[in-house]
Amino acid sequence: MPKDMAPARDPRHDILFEPVRIGPKTAKNRFYQVPHCNGGGYRDPSAVVEMRRTKAEGGWGVIFTEQTEIHQTSEITPFIEQRIWEDKDIPALARMAEAMKSHGALAGIQLAYSGINGPNLYTREVPLAVSPGPILTFTSDPVQARALDRDDIRDLRRWFRAAFRRSQQAGFDLICLYGAHGFGIFQHFLSRATNQRSDEYGGSLENRARFVREIVEEAREETKGELGITLRLSLHEGGALGFSNAEVRDFIEMHRDLPDLWDLAQGTWEACSGTSRFKEEGAQEELVRGIKALTDKPVVGVGRFTSADAMVRQVRQGILDFIGAARPSIADPFLPKKIEEGRFDDIRECIGCNICVSGDMTGAISRCTQNSAFMEEWRKGWHPERMRPKGASDSVLVVGAGPAGLEAAHILGKRGYHVTLAEAGTVLGGRVARERKLPGLAAWGRVADYRTGQIAPMPNVETYLDSRLGADDVLAMGAQHVAIATGAHWRRDAVARLHLAPIPTDPAMPVFTPDDLMAGEGPTGGRVMIYDDDHFYMGSVLAELLVARGCTVDFVTPAVKAAEWTHNTLEQAIIQRRLMELGVTIHASKAPEAVHDRGVTLGCTWTGRTSDLPCDAVVMVTSRVADDGLYQAMKARQAEWQGAGIASVRLIGDAAAPAPIAWATYAGRRYAEELDMPDRGDAVAFRREIAGLDPGASLLPAG
Ligand code: ADP
Ligand code: SF4
Repeated sequence: MPKDMAPARDPRHDILFEPVRIGPKTAKNRFYQVPHCNGGGYRDPSAVVEMRRTKAEGGWGVIFTEQTEIHQTSEITPFIEQRIWEDKDIPALARMAEAMKSHGALAGIQLAYSGINGPNLYTREVPLAVSPGPILTFTSDPVQARALDRDDIRDLRRWFRAAFRRSQQAGFDLICLYGAHGFGIFQHFLSRATNQRSDEYGGSLENRARFVREIVEEAREETKGELGITLRLSLHEGGALGFSNAEVRDFIEMHRDLPDLWDLAQGTWEACSGTSRFKEEGAQEELVRGIKALTDKPVVGVGRFTSADAMVRQVRQGILDFIGAARPSIADPFLPKKIEEGRFDDIRECIGCNICVSGDMTGAISRCTQNSAFMEEWRKGWHPERMRPKGASDSVLVVGAGPAGLEAAHILGKRGYHVTLAEAGTVLGGRVARERKLPGLAAWGRVADYRTGQIAPMPNVETYLDSRLGADDVLAMGAQHVAIATGAHWRRDAVARLHLAPIPTDPAMPVFTPDDLMAGEGPTGGRVMIYDDDHFYMGSVLAELLVARGCTVDFVTPAVKAAEWTHNTLEQAIIQRRLMELGVTIHASKAPEAVHDRGVTLGCTWTGRTSDLPCDAVVMVTSRVADDGLYQAMKARQAEWQGAGIASVRLIGDAAAPAPIAWATYAGRRYAEELDMPDRGDAVAFRREIAGLDPGASLLPAG
């Protein structure tokens, strides 16, 4: 690209903006948004379309859909992805392809047949897999698959052909065959763990590769060689029979020119989408290094890349041709554009928290901690970069500079309001300023860093530290609108989900909260019981902290496993292993019933049987209490608002209702976006789509 078109680009990064061929197509640059779920899928087609459009605008060279189920005999309910079962699925997908191509990106569709991973809870079809066996899902559905016989394989090839035709009709440039994460049939054929066949599709690697060879050939034939055909594989499947990295390399060497591109994902989804707590940027490098030498086709790999220099190094060293990204593209759809324009400080780096993943895992719509506009582009008309100009009012006071207050100030500032941000503490960031210092959570700090970096140069945003405001101060400041984002604190009395009232506690036993530990207080030795009725990351993080301080830790949870909710962020198994390896004793299905001077009485949540656990200190990781005192004080003085020039006072973020960080950035965004908007009354707060009603024709013959 000529210099005058990209004046601010650092020449070191030019290589990232070179065009690269993918079979018959050419990507405009090396930024490759690999397929990623979003919790919206077929249920929220327009929300997904507009989300993908922001990636096109943001400069990605290749943009993919999430996995698209090709046939009714294989679907993964309750997870919501895309479907291309019938011609009537084409229009929504065509709209997606059009959005992806709107700024010159190649539009890709990932086609999936889930085989041993698809329980068919919705279609009620008998699952078909390479070899028979229980369906291998997150949810242990009590369903087994029958093995595909030769006729079924012929059918399956025909179904793939239909999906290829429909993909081309929908306007896609690229087709990705999904064989990664243990989820796609291509991996199931290739792996000895899931392929125990004795016919020509089983046994030797050559036989196990037969199906993928047939399908790639038929994809080319069906699309008349006009589309690029890519293959997404796991770089390493564990277990004695798994499709190991060595076998992956053998397979690629044997089929060096089979697909038009090799899309290589780490291993399981948990390994591939590891959180920053457990996985560094570029973590799959060793598994992918050297593969490019085995093929003439381009290679894409992932690694939560947000640093342009790390990307350049991987390309220069011949490790990757394309920089694959899912989460970095969610957190900042404009990542390529910002690198191109040399706007590094504007990059909203993914923090690796996997809240986005939890949206898919819970069948909700995904959120992103960093990009509060994610999946609200169509529903609410929010954009990751552009804000509407301000409305009729001028001034806003934001009290509290945690994620909610910072996001509110940031978006209000961009809209053009005069913003005063007052923070009681001596640093900005609220909870993330504290949590970033905990083991493994350093990346949480990016939530504060990005926003403080954005507001620092804004002349219309004034920030005051060390400024704990009371109602008198707020009334004296004369801002037209007040957002109270004063956060929350952890409880000390065991009240959460199991105990709805405080438990008897002897004051002789030292009882701490996460806030105490984050303030540097709490035990530095001895035996400590952590009671975790929060089930997210905090309990296990504090267990690590206390072990590092020299304590012996008993981790007590009423759940059947540690940090149960982190199943939704793909971390639970890793956390359980980490705790066990650190020598933490996990007491599952237990909860303290009373705290004594020398220990606690534990109750079994199933039988009610009690036992004694001696300890020197207790840490309660249970629930949080909203710090809404300032808001209540302002409400009590509502009669004085008008005289003080105040039109509205709103409570946002954890101060309204404690929740994960992503909820707070969302609350800040919402407040800032909706200021000066007409009141929608009881109307639903976002646009939604409901399924079009079928004309009503019966499947049965007339009469
Ligand atoms: P959230 O996640 O909702 O943003 P946090 O707990 O992270 O909440 O942040 C709340 C912030 O508000 C903290 O940094 C806290 O110091 C600050 N704060 C609390 N009360 C006041 C007050 N009265 N005046 C100014 N700042 C306050
Ligand atoms: Fe990254 Fe967290 Fe956003 Fe997912 S939710 S893209 S992990 S910041």
